[in-house]
Amino acid sequence: MGSDEQKKTFVMKGIPVSPGIVIGKVYLFDREDAQVPLYKLDAPERIEEEIQRFQRALGESENQLLELKKQLGDLGGGMEPLYIIDVHIMILKDQKFIDRTIRNIRELGVNAEWAVRMTVDRYREIFAQMKDDYLRGRFSDIQYAGQRILANLGGRKRPIIDTGAEGVVIIASDLSPDDTAQMKIDKVLGFATDVGGKTSHTAIVARSLEIPAVVGLETISRSVRTNDDIIIDGSAGLVIAHPDPEVRKRYEDKKSLYEKAQDDLLDYAKLPAVTRDGYAVEIGGNIEFVEEIPSAIAHGADGIGLYRTEFIYINREVLPDEEDHLANYRSVVGVKGLSWATIRTFDLGGDKFFPDRKPSRELNPQLGLRAIRFCLKEMELFKVQLRAILRASVQGKLRIMFPMISGIEEIREAKRILMEVKGELLAKGIPIGQEIEIGVMIEVPSAVIVAEELAAEVDFFSIGTNDLIQYVLAIDRINERVTYLYEPLHPAVLRLIRQVVDIGHRAGIRVAMCGEMAGEPAYTLILLGLELDELSMNPLAIPRIKKIIRGSTLKESKNLLEQVMKISSTSEIRAFVETAMRERFPEEFQVNGQ
Ligand code: PEP
Ligand code: MG
Repeated sequence: MGSDEQKKTFVMKGIPVSPGIVIGKVYLFDREDAQVPLYKLDAPERIEEEIQRFQRALGESENQLLELKKQLGDLGGGMEPLYIIDVHIMILKDQKFIDRTIRNIRELGVNAEWAVRMTVDRYREIFAQMKDDYLRGRFSDIQYAGQRILANLGGRKRPIIDTGAEGVVIIASDLSPDDTAQMKIDKVLGFATDVGGKTSHTAIVARSLEIPAVVGLETISRSVRTNDDIIIDGSAGLVIAHPDPEVRKRYEDKKSLYEKAQDDLLDYAKLPAVTRDGYAVEIGGNIEFVEEIPSAIAHGADGIGLYRTEFIYINREVLPDEEDHLANYRSVVGVKGLSWATIRTFDLGGDKFFPDRKPSRELNPQLGLRAIRFCLKEMELFKVQLRAILRASVQGKLRIMFPMISGIEEIREAKRILMEVKGELLAKGIPIGQEIEIGVMIEVPSAVIVAEELAAEVDFFSIGTNDLIQYVLAIDRINERVTYLYEPLHPAVLRLIRQVVDIGHRAGIRVAMCGEMAGEPAYTLILLGLELDELSMNPLAIPRIKKIIRGSTLKESKNLLEQVMKISSTSEIRAFVETAMRERFPEEFQVNGQ
């Protein structure tokens, strides 16, 4: 057809969230459409077989939900999740839903998957017309039930995204970590999405998988089709569709330059992060999956500064048990090549996932039942995790860190439960490591205000700037419409960080930073000036940060910080810091001319 020649090159600008350049073919991912095959049934007897197949899938779906309900009931986690499951079971048994699907198979002669999809689509139309917001939102229950039937029709738990042998660039409206977990990651060359911000979890996942990504493109998923040619420049935040030969060539050159630059930087990975006047900072790696540990070591992490354990819950049909947790922690604690491991207890809720519960149903999930709040409510789940962490602690130096602590009660309660679990393990003769430190994440403004009291309870602080900035500046970190306000150099943010470091050091405890700010080269001198003890970041960012640290002095960093602290306007601070960094490190901060 030669249709590719007819398509015009176009460029879209979004938010660069994971560096690198990729040139490839589009795979348009639509979560609801994903992997719903369509085929015509060629013989009448196949129609009856197909109906039976649909009915079997209904039965399997119901059994799975009943099993899940039993498991959740045993955990005693309150009635609401059980009601939700009941609703899904009712949908599976709804005669109208069943009749309509069977009619689709019979009258249209299509396979059961497609027939289910058509039924769900019909309900979507009906629900979309409802005036009542709450009722309209209930469509998600039907969608969920439909997805479960589809999964059972396919004979597998979840659809797996077919990325083909060559690899593809995934384009989507939004990608949850759960979606990415379904992909054959080694075949995904890049991501581009309509929504998202720099610190949305999808962006973090893309970075940790070393996949170039651009988010916040607003309309990319409506602008391209599967198999279109596409270029993603994850460093500049550009997406180029249907590149003409000249543009393609330019990007092929850029791509090889970028890869060479990365190799050069890797020389810094193995060197210590010490300034020229001898100030040493420890460098942690942030990981979501234990599979990232080799990359953390290769890129020069001294230890794991943040293991986001909620990713253990990703893409699962049933809750992980103690042995699942233990297997994970055993591959993080005491690993050769890493001096310590910081395990953060799970931070579920907000934009994060949970099997068969939908925490994001809350109106304000970021302010809702997430992280430590969720753990203290779901005590049994929390204890399962703590038991496994403690059991893994015999392997090496371990730091346990609690997320979203907002006041003294929460840390005391978390510690009390930890001690209780510890006592139970010891009573059973199960050994526990000697080198356990307990810390809190400082990511809620109130924690900064009561930092002195918190410091008396713990061995370390770790500043989670992603959330701290979100809460102190009142900016939803995943809302691309307010990304422009998300500003780590806001004087309020800098003052809060300074306060935390001062209080921590006065109390004689270690102060780390594990938010994305720690891995941003433009901020390195500021963070050195603040005298953080540890910077923990995406492993890919480590070599460049080490290069900057090794090229600077504590003295000049403090100097820069003092000048910055006197400026009250965020934009002036930014201009000042960027100019200073460009002058000091021209190689690292060249203006990226086209
Ligand atoms: C943070 O909030 O800065 C942080 C490191 O935690 P997360 O990004 O997982 O919320
Ligand atoms: Mg956080």
